[in-house]
Formats: sequence, C-alpha cells, structure tokens
Amino acid sequence: MTATPSPRMLARASSVLEIDLEAVAANWRALAALVGGPSRCAAVVKADAYGLGAAFVAPALLRAGCERFFVATIAEGTALRRVLKDAEIAVLNGPVASAVPFKAARLVPVLNDLAQLAFWRRFAKGEHRAMLHIDTGMNRLGLPPGELDRLAAEPGLLDGVPLAAILSHLACAEEPDNPINEAQRADFLAALARLPKAPASLAGSSGIYLGPAYHFDFARPGAALYGVNPVPGRPNPMRSVVRLKARILQVRDVDRDRSVGYGAAHRMAHTGRIATIAAGYADGWLRSGSHRGTVGIAGKRAPIVGRISMDLMTVDVSEIDPRAATPGAFADLIDETYGVDEAAAAAGTIGYEILTGIGRRALRIYRGGPG
Ligand SMILES: *Cc1c(COP(=O)(O)O)cnc(C)c1O
Repeated sequence: MTATPSPRMLARASSVLEIDLEAVAANWRALAALVGGPSRCAAVVKADAYGLGAAFVAPALLRAGCERFFVATIAEGTALRRVLKDAEIAVLNGPVASAVPFKAARLVPVLNDLAQLAFWRRFAKGEHRAMLHIDTGMNRLGLPPGELDRLAAEPGLLDGVPLAAILSHLACAEEPDNPINEAQRADFLAALARLPKAPASLAGSSGIYLGPAYHFDFARPGAALYGVNPVPGRPNPMRSVVRLKARILQVRDVDRDRSVGYGAAHRMAHTGRIATIAAGYADGWLRSGSHRGTVGIAGKRAPIVGRISMDLMTVDVSEIDPRAATPGAFADLIDETYGVDEAAAAAGTIGYEILTGIGRRALRIYRGGPG
C-alpha cells in the first residue's frame, strides 16, 4: 500500500483504485457544517474506512478538523491509534474479554449491555471513559428497554464510569417518511432524560439529512464521507471519492448464437465483439451484477454479458469504437458518472457493500493526501 505508485507499477496494474482524500475531507466538512461545526461531527472509519484504507483516510479527516473516530473492533482501534496520536477512538462492538488493549491504545469502548457496563466498571475505577449505547429499535447492539429500566432504577451501576457519550442508532434513516425515525428519536430523548448528562449522538450519514432534531450533540457519518448517497432517490450531495478501473485484456469477434462464459449463460444475439476485463468477484465486482451492470469505455456504456467470474468479466463492446475498446486500455468500473450507488444497484446491493468489498488486488492511488 503506497500513496503514489511508480509509473512502472501503474503500467503493470490490472486494476487501479483511486481514492480522493481531498473529496473525503470536503465531504466531512460539508456534513460538519450541516450539524453545526467540526466538534459536532465524528467520523466512522470502521472496516478500514469502508475498504478505502483507514491509515490514509483518518489522517486526512484529522487534518480537516475531525476529533472523534469510530471503529468496529478492538483490532481496528489499536491499528488506528498508530496513525492518530491523540484523537478520540471509540470501539462500537465494545469490550471483549479484556480491557488491556483499551488501556494500551487509549480506546473508548461503546458499552452495549449491562454485562459490558459491569465489566468496564470493575476496570475503569473512575478513570476510563466509555460510551453507552441505548437500543431504540435495531435489536442489534445497545441496552434493550429492560436493561435501560434497570439502569434507570439503579444509577449506581454507572458509578466509576465517566460517560464520553450516549448513543443510539437509526434503523431507517435513509427513508425520511418512515415513522420509525420519529419513534426512535422520541425513545432516545426519553432514555436521555433517565440517564446522567452526557453528549448524545443519534445520526449517521442519512440521519443528518433528517434535520436538526436528529443532530443532538454530535453525528457519526460513515458512508457519506466516502461518496455513498445519504439521500437515496435524490441527487447525491456528496463528492465522489473512488474511481475504479480495470484493464481490457482481450477483444474478440464472436459469432451470432455462440455463448460467452461459464454456464454458456449468455448467447450472442448478433455477431459482435466481446472484451474481457481484468476484474471479477475476487475484486469485489459482485457476481450478482452478471448480465446487469455496465462499464464505461471512452465515455460510453458497455453491458456486462455472461457471468462475472473470479478474475474476469466479459462486456459487449460491439457499439464501442474499436480504437477505445482495445487490449491494454482501461474500462471504468466506478467514476463520477457511474458511482458506487449505480454499481450497487446493478448488483442488487448497496454502495456500502460495494465499497467494503473492493478487493486488495487493485493498485491503490491516494490523491489529495500529504506529500
Ligand atoms: C456504521 C455505523 C455508523 C455510520 O453509518 P453510515 O450510514 O455509514 O453513516 C454510525 N453509527 C453506528 C452505530 C454504526 O454502526
């Protein structure tokens, strides 16, 4: 993983993933402005910053003014501490087995049930802060209603645990008209009223766009930082962050009625040209996009035909200028005009899964970083 690969590496690369760190920073600044300023906007960099490389993304966000970061696991937090000296790093999955890594890397756990709270209380002895996650409808992580009742009845359970924040998480934030949003907000307000005072946080990327009532003390966007549209169905307010391109390896003429690829699942309706491209499901180019997605070549769309395989896919380039659809040229898989959300729709999934699935094989180029 290098920030700027050499021309020789680029010349040999089968596929290239360009990550625009300046766009990530601009997206964070835009969201921070929406929620009332830099101190009110954390950044979620779990899963290696949604697959884009937390070691590059997090320092870019720090330079943009972000002071609070969320990861999912202890290992992610420990790795992130090596690149972020002082920023707050919170671990969404909470403590597992031992408090040692939290102390060593100065990680703040998110406590998701009373057992985790009791564990942390024994360790913290008034010194080590934690966040408390209240479940208001996900039924995934966070104190369920019965545990919240118990905690409200026995506030001593929190003795010796300085609260860095109280969180909850929205289930349907990308659907502004869904009444579950307002129900969760009301439940969160009710929970806050029964707990000690601490900074409150409810909104991720889409929650921010539900309006100021959802912003509380700080927001926790992830996906929108990386260019995923937080308001599906409306124009994407975020800047595009990733470009993914893969090399055309071969172009061949294929006669009418001949089949293409595994299972002979595509049959040529006419004599035409097929380009074989160096990206497949091992690169995160999901097999469910077979027969459905398209790639860009010289500004035109070429349909993916046949089944996407591990390392390769085939596209019909009969309508593309042969000088552009030629071995050695690149096909555009993700760019400004066909973004992660479009690629996701073609594969029957969401932009989050496309981003986190992009493989390790693509040569990574970071733009807009330091140096
Ligand atoms: C992943 C996650 C986020 C970020 O969500 P986005 O939709 O990517 O903005 C925020 N909070 C919690 C608890 C999460 O798990």
